[in-house]
Amino acid sequence: MDPATRAALIERVRFYRDLGLTEFYRRPVDLALLQSLDNPQDCHPEQAQRVEGPAFSISPDTPGTPVLASETWENMPQSSSQENPLIAPRKSILTPPQVLPVVQPADRAAALQLIREDIGDCTRCALHKGRNKIVFSDGPPDARLMFVGEGPGADEDAQGIPFVGKAGQLLNNMIVAMGLRRDEVYIANVVKCRPPGNRTPEPDEGNTCSPFLFRQIDVIRPQVIVALGATAATYLLGQRQPLAGLRGRVHAWRGSQLIVTYHPAFLLRDPRQKKEAWADLQIAMRELGLKPPAKG
Ligand code: URA
Repeated sequence: MDPATRAALIERVRFYRDLGLTEFYRRPVDLALLQSLDNPQDCHPEQAQRVEGPAFSISPDTPGTPVLASETWENMPQSSSQENPLIAPRKSILTPPQVLPVVQPADRAAALQLIREDIGDCTRCALHKGRNKIVFSDGPPDARLMFVGEGPGADEDAQGIPFVGKAGQLLNNMIVAMGLRRDEVYIANVVKCRPPGNRTPEPDEGNTCSPFLFRQIDVIRPQVIVALGATAATYLLGQRQPLAGLRGRVHAWRGSQLIVTYHPAFLLRDPRQKKEAWADLQIAMRELGLKPPAKG
């Protein structure tokens, strides 16, 4: 396969993965269908129909140019989500560990520090080989809202702080649109070391690292957790399921209200889905009793 096709294929697979679609199979080529694609007039009329875009416009993102919250996250209508059936996991995800006893607010910082010390200079999985910095978390131990991502990218690996790259800038906009400041929310990832090439963590990597995330969650006990993307949703909920079946509702989970939405990196690739993500964030805001900040 030539390098350009390979790169395009990787990007497409990543796009589907962000949607929670992880199982692929090969279908025999249908020559008649290929022919009809070359000659669109041969298509059935229902296949040839134009697909209409959303009823409102969203300014496109230019890579490297963070979009202002006011351009992106306000006045987006609520939309419904579809229920999808469970899909069988091909590789196993560990059962989430037992919920730990409550840690009093005054002891939370020390409890988190203990988790960090337990992680140490970790070599438990292969991800340590390529890492620069372990990315533990960002945010206060008394946060009411927690965001969980997949794993550090290049910027996070360099700085040791989650969500500081382009996806982080979009996450910051999302947080501000919710009427919060970034320093009011807690942010962590399923894995704490950067997967090479930003690939999805392998199950043994996710299973090795996610127990530390569960411990962080059990210490903080945020009222609301927002799982960003399919990997976070999969490891938190302990089941692999298309994102469409998990979004748009509240999951009662480990004493918190868990809401699943798209990963900001996915939203950078497909900004049309911001409307749906905003609908998810509005659910989180409702649970937290937040109103979007006034314009102006
Ligand atoms: N993507 C993630 O999932 N986490 C980060 O910290 C940065 C990008």
